[in-house]
Amino acid sequence: TSEQLMQAQKMEAVGQLTGGVAHDFNNILTIVLANADAILDDDSVPPHITKRAQRISDAGQKASELTRQLLAFSRKQVLKPEISDLNDLVATTGKLLRRTLGEHIEVQTIAASNLWPIYVDRPQVETALINLCINARDAMAGGGRLTVETRNVTLSWDYVARQEDEVAPGEYAMLSVSDTGSGMPPDIRRRAFEPFFTTKEVGKGTGLGLSMVYGFIRQSNGHIEITSEVGRGTTVRMYFPRSDPAVAAAPAPRKQAMPRGS
Ligand code: ADP
Repeated sequence: TSEQLMQAQKMEAVGQLTGGVAHDFNNILTIVLANADAILDDDSVPPHITKRAQRISDAGQKASELTRQLLAFSRKQVLKPEISDLNDLVATTGKLLRRTLGEHIEVQTIAASNLWPIYVDRPQVETALINLCINARDAMAGGGRLTVETRNVTLSWDYVARQEDEVAPGEYAMLSVSDTGSGMPPDIRRRAFEPFFTTKEVGKGTGLGLSMVYGFIRQSNGHIEITSEVGRGTTVRMYFPRSDPAVAAAPAPRKQAMPRGS
């Protein structure tokens, strides 16, 4: 529909704009941080100045993290993909997650057997997973159940035709995070991937979590989808193209993931 097209164009424009700004901003930050570090390393500087330099450095690093997330959204980051197993990845992140989520949330994992291998930047997938789990936690203030699931999925022509984003039909390994939280009304779900879009209070949310995940998934030739029902909960599904270990081992970097059988 034309509304979907407008939304896609808007995302593209926002991506280009934020990517450009983030890139230039990061260059300036590098200079600020280098000078703060030079003061910190200088033994002849009196302590009260060192203290201020430390504050500059701390704030600069926070800003640097923000620009990193913006660059991720605009797909300008360098990815280091490797053959990975999503079940493996969920297992490694599991401990950290349980600690982050707290006592009042029950965590359930459903791992598919014989999950297809994928070719992705592992730390980025872990960051994405953690981002989704933090959102799920925030949506379940009164407690609830969080389910992390992996599955082999074949996306049909029919399915891809219905998606706003361009996605190739074919075989994907899916990683999803479901919560039994507040859910999202359609207007919020539509805007959720926009950078800086947040419904959380100042200081709680940056509105960059999902936009970062979105940028990363798109750059990985994957697909992301949110289904949600107000009062019942939300499921976010990330799809990564099935990879053939032999293909990934080949010297030339693959630009486009090819679905099997094509
Ligand atoms: P942030 O978490 O900093 O607000 P995000 O980009 O991660 O930024 O999310 C944007 C918005 O999408 C959130 O403020 C919230 O309104 C909504 N949202 C994201 N995940 C969920 C979820 N699991 N349940 C309900 N709402 C969600």
